[in-house]
Amino acid sequence: MSRRVDTLVVGAGYAGAVMAERLASDGRQVLVVDRRPHIAGNAFDHPDAAGVLIHPYGPHIFHTNAPQVVAYLSRFTEWRPYEHRVRAVVKGMLLPIPINRTTVNRFFGLDLARDEVANFLAAKAVPIARQRTAADVVLGTVGQELYEAFFRGYTRKQWGVDPSELDSSVTARVPTRVDDEDRYFTDSFQAMPLGGYTRMFEAMLDHPNITVHLGVDFAEIRKEVRYGQLVYTGPIDEYFGYRYGRLPYRSLRFQHVTLNTTQHQPVAVVNYPSPDVPYTRITEFKHLTGQHHAKTSICFEYPSATGDPYYPVPRPENAALYARYRALADATPNVVFVGRLATYRYYNMDQVVGQALATHRRMTERLRADQGDGAIVAIPAAPLTS
Ligand code: FAD
Ligand code: UDP
Repeated sequence: MSRRVDTLVVGAGYAGAVMAERLASDGRQVLVVDRRPHIAGNAFDHPDAAGVLIHPYGPHIFHTNAPQVVAYLSRFTEWRPYEHRVRAVVKGMLLPIPINRTTVNRFFGLDLARDEVANFLAAKAVPIARQRTAADVVLGTVGQELYEAFFRGYTRKQWGVDPSELDSSVTARVPTRVDDEDRYFTDSFQAMPLGGYTRMFEAMLDHPNITVHLGVDFAEIRKEVRYGQLVYTGPIDEYFGYRYGRLPYRSLRFQHVTLNTTQHQPVAVVNYPSPDVPYTRITEFKHLTGQHHAKTSICFEYPSATGDPYYPVPRPENAALYARYRALADATPNVVFVGRLATYRYYNMDQVVGQALATHRRMTERLRADQGDGAIVAIPAAPLTS
């Protein structure tokens, strides 16, 4: 273990890897630790026992509208074009989700044209003056029947609470369409790293100024390593010893299965919104990766209140608790909090990359302002703490 570094980065996921790479490129000596035995955080992928490339922490699909994020990551990977499509099992049928013209027609047994679908849904929509909750957004757009069939059961399973107790942002992630568009995302850039996520992270962390130690918890080494600055990407409440109580996180149990068949389902992800099915969705990884293999590997997601913290839970009381931790973070010198867990945000991968790049930019600008206009060759380390 290096005993003295410019920057200690806790976490080797997107937030940690981007910060480490940027600071190392500025000339800083960076030590990255992660308590897991691998890099890439929740985006980690690896071949399973059968040799099928899987995502052990559930399906990760890269999509973004941010050209600067694509430009940055493209330094570490080539891409394989991939457009994500999802179906939901409803009334014994496999229907497109997000809800589109096909979904409406098949669900209600109709044959409506595009403008007729818009009118039909407008008539179904429940009038809600201010769409505040995750239930409001769906009810106010597609009405009671589609809400109950596609969203209520899924959301109750996924989050362990009724949609009426979650922020509108949760279900607002899934649009409603009146045409035949059946891609899950319409972002300008949709692709998967050609060699997988782990390979991309290996390239990001492959820098002479970066050392990575895996299977190491920050709590074990915080007294051992001397660092000028800390970049922390773990849960913010954990950093502060749960001083104000625990921030709620939702977890998942993943059941991975390899099947002796080339294909299990027609698209990468099939959702199961029914309350009678204990899992929320099944992913078949070969659709995502384009891998050819005689077998196929799939993954069931069972939501859980306990386990690794995967999802911050967007609701007002949690935002209020996070704000108290945020105030502590703002008053903690030489520690930068970045990422989905450290800033308690339901962020996609590209948003975390964008957040980390912006954080690094602000750090650089602050130093430039402190030191005058001269170009910065290497960022000097802040005073060492032990
Ligand atoms: P993480 O990836 O969680 O990395 C944080 C790392 O810090 C972890 O490896 C953890 O072990 C380590 N750590 C924490 N505390 C400590 C400590 N005390 N000491 C040492 N190490 C520590 N995004 C998309 O864009 N597309 C998708 O399709 C998508 N699908 C998802 C599916 C699931 C099931 C989940 C859970 C998330 C999904 N995401 C998706 C979101 C994506 O995973 C995150 O945006 C991204 O991984 C967050 O990166 P991060 O670095 O902030 O956090
Ligand atoms: N959702 C739903 N039914 C679906 C798909 C999504 O109710 O078929 C709701 C659910 O609350 C979910 C949220 O919309 O948590 C966001 O969906 P997304 O697919 O973005 O979830 P993620 O991939 O982040 O788990």
